[in-house]
Amino acid sequence: MNNTVNYLSERASKLTPYTAGIQPKDMGWIKLNTNENPYPPSPMVRQAIENAEFWRLKLYPDTEGGVLREAIAKTMGVKEENIFCGNGSDEVLALAFQAFFSGKNNVLTPDISYGFYPVWSEMYGVGASFIPTGSGFEIDPGGYSGGGGVVLANPNAPSGLVLGLQEIERITQNNPDGVVLIDEAYMDFADVGNAVRLTERYENLLVVRTFSKSYSLAGLRAGFAVGNAALISGLGRVKNAFNSYPLGLLPQIGAAAAISDTEYWDETRKKVMSTRELTAKRLFELGFGTGGSQANFLFVSPPKGFDAKGVYEHLLKNKILVRYWNKPRINNHLRVTVGTENEMEAFIECVKQMLNG
Ligand SMILES: *Cc1c(COP(=O)(O)O)cnc(C)c1O
Repeated sequence: MNNTVNYLSERASKLTPYTAGIQPKDMGWIKLNTNENPYPPSPMVRQAIENAEFWRLKLYPDTEGGVLREAIAKTMGVKEENIFCGNGSDEVLALAFQAFFSGKNNVLTPDISYGFYPVWSEMYGVGASFIPTGSGFEIDPGGYSGGGGVVLANPNAPSGLVLGLQEIERITQNNPDGVVLIDEAYMDFADVGNAVRLTERYENLLVVRTFSKSYSLAGLRAGFAVGNAALISGLGRVKNAFNSYPLGLLPQIGAAAAISDTEYWDETRKKVMSTRELTAKRLFELGFGTGGSQANFLFVSPPKGFDAKGVYEHLLKNKILVRYWNKPRINNHLRVTVGTENEMEAFIECVKQMLNG
């Protein structure tokens, strides 16, 4: 049908949505493209969801994330008033953009970072200033001061590079007039301390976390923010102008079980970290540039004579999915999620095959 009427609002027609990595419908893929955890969720998640009272689904869930908020506060050693829960951390981040950055100018964020930040900036009328990262995508903390806000992923994506706690503290001190939002989606895979403790001392610091990566729960959709009570209630204001019940009962119950099973979390994140180091070493030996990631992925550039797009396509033909962006500065890099040791073995073999022609 040739429809000449454009029903989209002006805002909807102008925006550039984020493009997520492919989720193939058929089996048989090695999926290293969306930074999911290769290990299943904690068995306690299954148990908690199976034991959930089925009849309760007829009721609206707790608007504040009840059991989940309690479990997070306990694990993180903060009060419930310092925790905000959402339907995945993407939602928490989007609400934070609306609550703290909408209409503000000079909100500082790196030029190479999570692809959603420019999308939300556009969507919610945020005057973002994109601060150039170094030649190896490193962030210079000195470039972040006097902003109307700061948005940093730490470890950053897709570089995997991490800033230490002192650097985060310095950035927080240097931006007293705006909220400093630290997206710690990958922090559980890093060797540096997280910024949660700092939120007790800095009222402008907001730390955002997800259950999708280190808790193996990308499909459940749960994320949260940690910050002082005023910031948390600010997020609540915006949430209640959008959807009072963003987080379902089962995600609340499942995520609460996951965060309480610290033993399983620690075991799986350490397996991912050691497989990451092993894979980086092997790629380095094959001539790849490997950067030094502290996340559950590697950001690599191919050896001389090969290009990232070619490597991507070779892997794709062999049913191995990694992430490639045809964008300035990063169009000769691949982001490779750390899978199980067997998956990474297959990935390395496939790469070797290509290098040997
Ligand atoms: C994966 C990711 C998220 C969020 O994921 P959710 O599944 O929405 O919790 C947030 N920030 C970064 C940088 C990520 O890579």
